[in-house]
Amino acid sequence: MRAYIFVAGLIMAGCISSSTLGQSSHSNPWAPVDVGPLPPIASLTDGVWLKGDLHLHSRHSHDSSNNSEAKIIAFSESVGMDYLCITDHDNHVQGDVAHNTWSDPEFKSKSLLLLYGAEWTTVRGHGNAFSATPYDHQRLYDVRDQRDVVVGAVKRELGIHLSANHPSGKDHFGYSYDMVDSIEVWNSAVWPKNANAIMIWDDMLSSGRKLTGRGGSDSHHGTPDTPEQATKNTYQRQANYVGTPTTWVFAKERTLQAVVDALTNGRVAVSANPYAPRVEFYADLDGDGKMDMMMGDNTKATGKPIKFRIQLTGNTVAGASYTVRVVKNGDPFSTLQATGGKEAMVEFTDTPASLGRTYYRIEVEGPPTAYPQVPGSMALSGNMVGLSNPIYFNFDPKF
Ligand SMILES: [Zn+2]
Ligand SMILES: [Zn+2]
Repeated sequence: MRAYIFVAGLIMAGCISSSTLGQSSHSNPWAPVDVGPLPPIASLTDGVWLKGDLHLHSRHSHDSSNNSEAKIIAFSESVGMDYLCITDHDNHVQGDVAHNTWSDPEFKSKSLLLLYGAEWTTVRGHGNAFSATPYDHQRLYDVRDQRDVVVGAVKRELGIHLSANHPSGKDHFGYSYDMVDSIEVWNSAVWPKNANAIMIWDDMLSSGRKLTGRGGSDSHHGTPDTPEQATKNTYQRQANYVGTPTTWVFAKERTLQAVVDALTNGRVAVSANPYAPRVEFYADLDGDGKMDMMMGDNTKATGKPIKFRIQLTGNTVAGASYTVRVVKNGDPFSTLQATGGKEAMVEFTDTPASLGRTYYRIEVEGPPTAYPQVPGSMALSGNMVGLSNPIYFNFDPKF
């Protein structure tokens, strides 16, 4: 009994001590700290929305079928994609994607921006590497079993964007999230199975990592060419192909580097397919009615209320109701309704804390949009229309 009282006293003393120290950000490591000056917010109008798919396997992956690069690229062009990254499994070619995926004579397009990349396929998990220029992927492959500190150094030297793939699945990303720039929060046409990936994303955001959420179809097979193929493996062939889901980036210009930069900066939205509406998320910092920042942007909170705007751009169903879920710091914050049509938008106001990190992100459900070339995908993505990346306050930009 005596010992119990002694222990309880210690705990109480600890509580008093920490709440007293909480007054000063210098002596309490858990108190919110000032992040210091942040880079200015880039222009909201000087850029272009580009859509693409960031996770695809061609015949250079041994578990793919019926899927040459020419077929993937021609299909992507036909559905209006702007960029693409064919991410074959690097372990199927012992790391040498440069002499397989990238050197294939079919690796070319008149209209598409083709990123250089591969799926880093290791026993510790899967990640995608993205680059605007050819890089020495062999080096990344060769350090796959080494410590994160070694892998991280190679990643920085190569200057590539590294992304965690299907983070909650069997081959989840088993490396440090400190060295990745984005996370695959929507893998394949099937929306509901991504709930755990979204939970991991929120966990990483809540821990202070400014981490872009992106999509990837992870398709391994082409669309059916013959009725016989259509009956085999129907899910793979008819329901999941290029663009399920589609990742939108707001790029400064139509170049490969601008696509990678937008992906790194988080000016990114994910839609169920190439024809589904795009979720745009903005904030008006000074109440003048003009939007000052968009998803992916990070600024200092002033302690004043901020007006946020969610806009659905593209093929909304006129008059239909869209459910807009606002997530704040990993928790449900508000559920709003937007009406489809030319001006499908909804607004809300909130005051992010002047000290400490805050983020808001958006998920939208509503009537599914038809994808005639991949007809089975509608049933798998259900009512999920799209999601935005967060708008950030007081985040450390150097993570
Ligand atoms: Zn994988
Ligand atoms: Zn894959």
